[in-house]
Amino acid sequence: MSSTLLLVLKIYFVIFASMIGSFLNVVIYRVPLGQNIVFPRSKCPNCSFQLSWFLNIPVLSFLFLKGRCYKCKQKISFQYPLVEFLCAGAGYFFFPNDFQVESIVSSFFYFATFCVFLCHLFIDIKHRLLPDSLNIFLLLVFLAFSIWRFGWVHSTLGGMVGFLMPLSITWLFYKLRGQIGLGGGDIKLFGILGLFLGVKGIIYNIFLSCWIGAIVGGSLILFKRMKKSESLAFGPYIILAASVQMFFPSQFQKFVEYVMGRY
Ligand SMILES: [Zn+2]
Repeated sequence: MSSTLLLVLKIYFVIFASMIGSFLNVVIYRVPLGQNIVFPRSKCPNCSFQLSWFLNIPVLSFLFLKGRCYKCKQKISFQYPLVEFLCAGAGYFFFPNDFQVESIVSSFFYFATFCVFLCHLFIDIKHRLLPDSLNIFLLLVFLAFSIWRFGWVHSTLGGMVGFLMPLSITWLFYKLRGQIGLGGGDIKLFGILGLFLGVKGIIYNIFLSCWIGAIVGGSLILFKRMKKSESLAFGPYIILAASVQMFFPSQFQKFVEYVMGRY
C-alpha cells in the first residue's frame, strides 16, 4: 500500500476518532444519570437548546463559539473539547502501521480500551462510580483480545488474581477497620485488567495505582485541598497505571527494571 494512501486513511481515522470523542462526551454525561446515549440529540445543559450539526463539530465548534453556548452564552465545560482532542490523538497514536489482520485488531483493541478508560476517568472523578455497562463492554473486549493474543492460562490466572487480590485486601480492611476501602467497580476493573496484564502485570498495576493514589491523595491533603477523612475515587489511579503499562509497555519495563535495581 502506498504511503500517500496510508496518510489519507490516517487523517480520516483521526477525524473519525474526534467524532467518537464527541460521542464519549455524551456517554460521560448520560450513563451515570441512567439516560439513553443515542436519543435525544445533544442539547445545552443550561438552556436545553438543541445543537445542530455545525455546532457539534469536534473541537472546532468549541473554538468557534469561544467556549460558550450559541444561544444562552453559558460557559461550556472545557471537558468537551479535551475529550474530543484526546480521542483524535489516540486515533493518530493507535492507527495501524500496516494492514495485517493482527495490526488492525490490535489498533481496534487499544483504541476501544482508551475510549472506555477516558469515560471511566471522567465519570469516576465526578460521580465516584465506574458504571457496570462500561465494565461489561471492557470485559468482552479484553476477554476476546487477551485469549486471542496470550491464551487461556495467562488470561484466566491474571483475571483471577486481579479480582481476588483486591477483594481479599478490601475484606481484610473491612474486618480490621470496619471501613470499605475499594468500591465494587474498582475490584471488577482490576479483574478485567488482569485478563490482559497477566498475574505479574496486574500485581504491578495494584501497587502502582496505590502509589499514584498515595502521592495524589497526600499532596491534596498537604495543600489543604482535601480533608484527611475524605476518600478519593480510586478508579483514576487504576486507569493511569494501566495506561502506562498498556500504551507505553517498553518505557514501563525500563521503569520496573530501574526500580528493581537491575537497570
Ligand atoms: Zn445554552
